[in-house]
Amino acid sequence: MKYVDEFRDRDKAAALATEIEKLACSIEGGSTPIHIMEVCGGHTHSIFRYGVEELLPARIELIHGPGCPVCVLPMGRVDDCVAIAEQPNVIFTTFGDAMRVPGSRKSLMQARAEGADVRMVYSPMDALALARAHPDREVVFFGLGFETTMPATALTILQADREAIDNFTVFCNHITIIPTIKAILDSPDVRIDAFLGPGHVSMVIGSAPYDFIARHYRRPLVIAGFEPLDVLQSIWMVLKQIKEGRCEIENQYARVAAAGGNVAALQAIARVYELRPFFEWRGLGSIDHSGVRLRPEYARFDAERRYAIPNARIADPKACQCGEVLKGVLKPWQCKVFGTSCTPQTPAGALMVSSEGACAAYYQYSSAKQRTGARG
Ligand code: SF4
Repeated sequence: MKYVDEFRDRDKAAALATEIEKLACSIEGGSTPIHIMEVCGGHTHSIFRYGVEELLPARIELIHGPGCPVCVLPMGRVDDCVAIAEQPNVIFTTFGDAMRVPGSRKSLMQARAEGADVRMVYSPMDALALARAHPDREVVFFGLGFETTMPATALTILQADREAIDNFTVFCNHITIIPTIKAILDSPDVRIDAFLGPGHVSMVIGSAPYDFIARHYRRPLVIAGFEPLDVLQSIWMVLKQIKEGRCEIENQYARVAAAGGNVAALQAIARVYELRPFFEWRGLGSIDHSGVRLRPEYARFDAERRYAIPNARIADPKACQCGEVLKGVLKPWQCKVFGTSCTPQTPAGALMVSSEGACAAYYQYSSAKQRTGARG
């Protein structure tokens, strides 16, 4: 398959791994680790799925960043979803991976088992179709994700507006990547030498918004695709910058992510959303301007204005170490409950729920022996 098979070629992967090894050995600092954060959950999934880490020299340490929107959803927001879903007459619609994220009382899946009308959809337009089909019901779409999914929600709201549909609202939890990377770079306990930039977000926002990372924080960033050769080539590009003393924003994923982003998507985003003063992230706390809400012109489509929601801050359970894993301070298997009380079947934390979560990806693609051995 074009753009897939050629990016999974074993021989080319082995050749790239050799080049990476040579480059890593030639960088000053002997065996000092080089920490590279892959921002996006899609990269995390690919790294574990294809065993990319096993191809890398010991000196390179990958840090699995916060780019999985399901994983960074705090418990309080899940409780808000459940509260809306349990309102009489509501059909609550969501992408499938958000169904099992634990709230403080229950997940959306458990709410459904108890009688709430929670339905899985593949796009916000599916939710709008439900609203058209059930004019006597209130349909709420759980808007979740970074700039990658923001435009689809925005376009759905614009469509609902054009059709004057009044039984459709969005519970908006869309988040933005740039303030988040900045918050990570400002965090005192994080050691990151370079970034693999999120390919799909970059497809929407382009490359210019990352310039401050190179200019102000003096870290290289390479926008990376999601196949194993994409990831390996991007790591090689990052190392080349480090070796040559450069800090630049480079684009390995140019076949999809244009430098200027997607103008139509950016226009839809600008038309429908405004920045929130702050947004709460699981494990990272409150980050200024890191989330969006609907502009007042679209208030009638805003579920937060239509329904009373608890809007409470709920701390993660004590044993849960999702925050440390999200910041790259701990590896998934170093969490105290990894593989014991926290598994994909019984997730204690959000990183074990989504296939893009570091814990779920590591659990899924490692052997039982590796899982128990890694903990010890
Ligand atoms: S093992 Fe579970 S609780 Fe621990 S960091 Fe991973 S998801 Fe969170």
